Amino acid sequence: MTCEVLIVGAGPAGTVAARLLALAGIKVVLVDRVNIEQQKIGESLPGAARPMLERLGLVSWVEKSSSIVNKGNLSCWGGTQLVATDFIRDPYGCGWHLDRQQFDQNLRDAAEDAGALMINGRISSVVENSDGIQAKVGDQSITAQWVIDASGNSRFVASMFGVSKHRDVPLFTLYTWCKNSTVDTRSVVEAVPTGWWYTAGLPDEQRVLAFFSLPEQIKILRDKDNFISALKETIHIANWCPAAGISSSPLQVTEATGSYLDKVFGARWLAVGSAALSFEPLSSQGIYNAIYTGLRGAEAVKAALIDNDRSLLIQYGERIKSIRAAYNIAISGYYQQEQRWPEQPFWIEHQKERL
Ligand SMILES: Cc1cc2nc3c(=O)[nH]c(=O)nc-3n(C[C@H](O)[C@H](O)[C@H](O)COP(=O)(O)OP(=O)(O)OC[C@H]3O[C@@H](n4cnc5c(N)ncnc54)[C@H](O)[C@@H]3O)c2cc1C
Repeated sequence: MTCEVLIVGAGPAGTVAARLLALAGIKVVLVDRVNIEQQKIGESLPGAARPMLERLGLVSWVEKSSSIVNKGNLSCWGGTQLVATDFIRDPYGCGWHLDRQQFDQNLRDAAEDAGALMINGRISSVVENSDGIQAKVGDQSITAQWVIDASGNSRFVASMFGVSKHRDVPLFTLYTWCKNSTVDTRSVVEAVPTGWWYTAGLPDEQRVLAFFSLPEQIKILRDKDNFISALKETIHIANWCPAAGISSSPLQVTEATGSYLDKVFGARWLAVGSAALSFEPLSSQGIYNAIYTGLRGAEAVKAALIDNDRSLLIQYGERIKSIRAAYNIAISGYYQQEQRWPEQPFWIEHQKERL
């Protein structure tokens, strides 16, 4: 199989890049092993994403995701009270709480609708040779002129090309779902001595519940009884997520450490989304960043491919560095606001300066 651009990973970054390139008449192949049955975490999309979604003709696709409006955030951080941030003050208006699996599927549909070819499978190798890029999916070979790494934190293409990645202080999460027993669907964050809790209302009267901490604490709370006991010690989160309403399925665990690549493009490859730069979920910027870098990255690849103009690639690399710098200031400032537990390992680690 041959194409002009191969995209590895069909999350928000890969699908946005695929749609933009396919709409420009470029032959795109998008590869991912998709399991629509599995519930997915990562649901909060800020209203600031709206202009990009409009530009990509994606608003109607997002609206099909049965998402609910997120009117604001509540946070218990630096004190015991819940402090509200109302999105009525935000120039972009309210955000969304998405059915994340459905949202990603709708973006894949939008990429296919624009003309991208979606292959359900996993890329097992990527090499560059005189013909361009050669990749393998199952026993099929794909030849492309360019490859976009949209493989999220696995950074599959970048690691095949030997590019180093840098990681911030470790952050892991334990998460589950529960029945939503309140009409208030705003996101709620609560800091505790060993980390922080998060919950948000979701479509279909569901609620996500997550605890973020260092790996040692996550190991202890993987035992569901310990998780429930820690939940009951919270001041607010336990009221939003009563233990009785929590799913009986085992708790899920995943890494949520912020990280970034040494370089985000090469002769015939470019990284977008979390593959280029990933943020801690406290920022709620991950999907926004995936859409933004998918869009800007695809524009840079398009200029290099069609006009042999590599200037947008260089601008893209600089932009990623400036986003990383702004993120470091914002996330450090937020962690610094919590000064109740200066002796606790979690807060010592997360209040260190980030580079
Ligand atoms: C616990 C947690 C909570 C979060 N909450 C939020 C939130 O509320 N709001 C927010 O904006 N962000 C949140 N995020 C971050 C957000 O989910 C990510 O930033 C976003 O998914 C990045 O999109 P992406 O397209 O870059 O990568 P992903 O969505 O990770 O997609 C990458 C895709 O690549 C595929 N892939 C990987 N390797 C291969 C391969 N070899 N071949 C083919 N396919 C491959 C994977 O299957 C995957 O589908 C959260 C993250 C975590 C960990």
